[in-house]
Amino acid sequence: MPQDLLAPDFSEEPYWIVDLPPYETPKTKGPRSVDVAVVGGGFAGLSAALTLARAGKQVAIFEARTIGAGAAARAAGSLGHVPKASLADLSERYGDQAAQAIYREARMAREYVEGLIRDFQIACNLRSGWRFVAAHSERAFERQRTALPTLRETWGDVELVERKDQRSVIGSDAFFGGVKIPQSATLQPALLQRGLAGAALNAGAELFQNTPITAIERKGDRYILSTSDGLIEARDVVLATNAETNVDNASIRKLRECLIVVPAFALATEEVSPETMARVLPIFGPVSDTYKIINYIAPNENGRRFILSGRAGRSDGDLRSKARRMFGYFRDRFPDLADVRVSNCWTGRFAVTADWVPHVGVAEGIHYVLGCCGTGIPMSTYLGHKAAEMIIDRTRGLTVFDRPLPALPFMGLGAPLLPLAVRGYELRDRYFR
Ligand SMILES: Cc1cc2nc3c(=O)[nH]c(=O)nc-3n(C[C@H](O)[C@H](O)[C@H](O)COP(=O)(O)OP(=O)(O)OC[C@H]3O[C@@H](n4cnc5c(N)ncnc54)[C@H](O)[C@@H]3O)c2cc1C
Repeated sequence: MPQDLLAPDFSEEPYWIVDLPPYETPKTKGPRSVDVAVVGGGFAGLSAALTLARAGKQVAIFEARTIGAGAAARAAGSLGHVPKASLADLSERYGDQAAQAIYREARMAREYVEGLIRDFQIACNLRSGWRFVAAHSERAFERQRTALPTLRETWGDVELVERKDQRSVIGSDAFFGGVKIPQSATLQPALLQRGLAGAALNAGAELFQNTPITAIERKGDRYILSTSDGLIEARDVVLATNAETNVDNASIRKLRECLIVVPAFALATEEVSPETMARVLPIFGPVSDTYKIINYIAPNENGRRFILSGRAGRSDGDLRSKARRMFGYFRDRFPDLADVRVSNCWTGRFAVTADWVPHVGVAEGIHYVLGCCGTGIPMSTYLGHKAAEMIIDRTRGLTVFDRPLPALPFMGLGAPLLPLAVRGYELRDRYFR
């Protein structure tokens, strides 16, 4: 009988939080009035709060659940700078200049997070190195070859790896070559989130866990936010709720209509030998493929486990079945994973926009960071900072990601049909290679 892909002590908890105690904050009664209310304690909200508090603003962060419960601590840990939208798609939609600016600033976002980790000495197992983006088809490889000059212009030393040479980076013959991108990183996302929370609190921000904001109302030049604990008045608001955006306010409802909420999955394996790690990932860094909904594999913080993410649909059954299916994708392509089993598989949700670009902006005076498109570790953290800069001084927050959220083309069909759009991307990945 073939060996089961799941370990006997398989868990549905994120690998990152298994040994972490709950994040404690002082049980103070919330303020009634602040300069800035930040809604959401993920990367975007905490990063915005940190920048604002350092600029001397009185800031309160309201988190509906707890630090560690949301998408932030559920991420797979990739701190990359490869946008989900291809250069060609972005050029078609926004022009070559804007497309290249998005690619350039995506790199700045990654560098910004690395700077924060350094400056605030956040112990989150940051590891930097090469990333390999493996082409899933010959056409995908040709697209990489065509984009290479522009990628080098915007990102520097990007290398094209022909199929015949790919064994030097991955233990698989299943791909069609790919590109090697320098200075990609991985980290422990739950520790980054805690580190950002600690830095924001040290800078003077207050954090209120288990405090959902249910409604936001404008009163003159102030905002009134409703919580289960009463009303809060704020001069400015940063909405950093990403996939969970559900606040009673007309302009927020309009923003929400521009987002598709996507379920995502990540996995960790049991410990493997250093030899297995070296055979599967000679690059010893993250590897993803060129599908729209990517498959991803990387070494964990000490190089003894693989962290993966992949795609699975409703028809794949419960989380255990999904874990088998997603890990099966890798086992089929990496022969040295044959004896490796999955110890954890967990799920969460993130928000995707019609242009596959994260957005920061202002709607009816409310500052927002939305639609991280699965690149929220760098992008939400960076754009949270940008939203804060816009509040501090409008000219400092300038960014190419400040552009209106495009409407979803199929909105007229109604929200229940939105998963069909995601299914559409899956089908495109499978049949239009
Ligand atoms: C399985 C999985 C794997 C992923 N892997 C990666 C990866 O490897 N690399 C990467 O870059 N990204 C990854 N992502 C995406 C990443 O986790 C998100 O992009 C990131 O967390 C977004 O940060 P955020 O602050 O914008 O939103 P979130 O982290 O979602 O934070 C929003 C917070 O707002 C809170 N909230 C919502 N509504 C309210 C309200 N009304 N009042 C108060 N609080 C509220 C929520 O509880 C939540 O904590 C992954 C996501 C998942 C689910």
